[in-house]
Amino acid sequence: MFSKILIANRGEIALRVLRACKELGIQTVAVHSTADQDAMHVRLADESVCIGPPPSRESYLNIHQILAACEITGADAVHPGYGFLSENAKFADILEAHGLTFIGPTAEHIRMMGDKITAKKTAEELGIPVVPGSEGEITTDEEAKKVANEIGFPVIIKATAGGGGRGMKVANNEDELSIALATARSEAGAAFGNEAVYIEKYLAKPRHIEIQVMGDGEGNAVHLGERDCSLQRRHQKVWEEANSPSLNSAQRQEIGEICAEAMRKMKYRGAGTVEFLYENGEFYFIEMNTRLQVEHPVTEAITGIDLVHEQIRVASGGGLSVTQKDIRFSGHAIECRINAEDPRSFVPSPGTITHYHPPGGLGVRVDSGVYQGYKIPPYYDSLIGKLIVHGRNRVECMMRLRRSLDEFVVDGINTTIPLFRDLLANPDIANGDYDIHWLEKFLAQKSSE
Ligand code: ADP
Repeated sequence: MFSKILIANRGEIALRVLRACKELGIQTVAVHSTADQDAMHVRLADESVCIGPPPSRESYLNIHQILAACEITGADAVHPGYGFLSENAKFADILEAHGLTFIGPTAEHIRMMGDKITAKKTAEELGIPVVPGSEGEITTDEEAKKVANEIGFPVIIKATAGGGGRGMKVANNEDELSIALATARSEAGAAFGNEAVYIEKYLAKPRHIEIQVMGDGEGNAVHLGERDCSLQRRHQKVWEEANSPSLNSAQRQEIGEICAEAMRKMKYRGAGTVEFLYENGEFYFIEMNTRLQVEHPVTEAITGIDLVHEQIRVASGGGLSVTQKDIRFSGHAIECRINAEDPRSFVPSPGTITHYHPPGGLGVRVDSGVYQGYKIPPYYDSLIGKLIVHGRNRVECMMRLRRSLDEFVVDGINTTIPLFRDLLANPDIANGDYDIHWLEKFLAQKSSE
């Protein structure tokens, strides 16, 4: 087992990883920018190192500084959290070259899944159902037309280096296609430094359902069920739940086993998420994330398995603590992403939290890095915490969530807490009857009222 882990991240996820390390008796090193010197992850870590000024590229994305921090503190492994360097294959390579362990998959697997065209090809070869679309990159209008007519309109043009819901354009007919192709390519170039795009069938009313997997790198792997992340704004997840209101246990076992088997064949190491769109009873692979996800706690709530413990165990060569038959799904869990944003306009709301009272009680978990008097810096994403609620069934979970939101006090800034109160009052949400477009429509309707 490792003796000291450096956590190359900030905010709630840095704290989440730190807690797992403490439970396992591992020393922790926090890294931080000058804007984060008063952050909770810095306060709670055994040691901390300032790695640069506020902009992420000069601090949390600065590989040299992070390496130097490992050297100064004698850390033997690095946990990247999510975002920042978590899916950076070069970072994983550099750490290994310096005799440090990257807590995650191999650089080769990160690369393979980081390029969405390769990811789709690989998934297909491994027996995972994929969205119909182009075989590879599309560069000309003629190619685009040919593929679009084969699969049928509407189609979506997506960046092969894409992430965070950026660089996607929908075309409803041939006339819209060439403009969509040109804009998608230039947006992809600007956002990712890579213009390559591909085409896939645009699904009209799918749900976003993803499967959590965990492998030991030796050919053993398990699935931990699904998460339904259909409630999205601008392709960004807002609310996630497990189990999905739309799957039964036979469907769960079937798609879960397909993913677990694919991970066994790949000899995948660590935590991963296989993302699908789900429509009319069919699953369509869209991408795989080779890291811990923001929404991992809903899986932890219904399985009782600490995913960060498993990541650390596997990375240290200790293997998985569970086999598939040990994994049971109990009750229902929902996560609300609490952002420091105006709940109507979604404009970020950095500033000082003047009063803070998180909810508690049975089945309630708050993962957050903030506290009363904490000043939210303007430089990073606006997620300030996650409220995760567990109940014996979905009805109990929703009752508990409503109560928890009422108890949650964050004064001094705007937060998205009121949005979740509105969602809970909606019959579609109560019935679990929503797809990936539902939230945008709901928000558009609200803003016109
Ligand atoms: P990113 O890596 O940028 O998050 P994804 O491929 O995971 O991109 O897609 C993000 C979201 O975009 C999906 O959850 C879904 O809402 C939408 N989307 C992606 N592909 C399609 C598609 N073929 N049809 C309809 N919606 C899609």
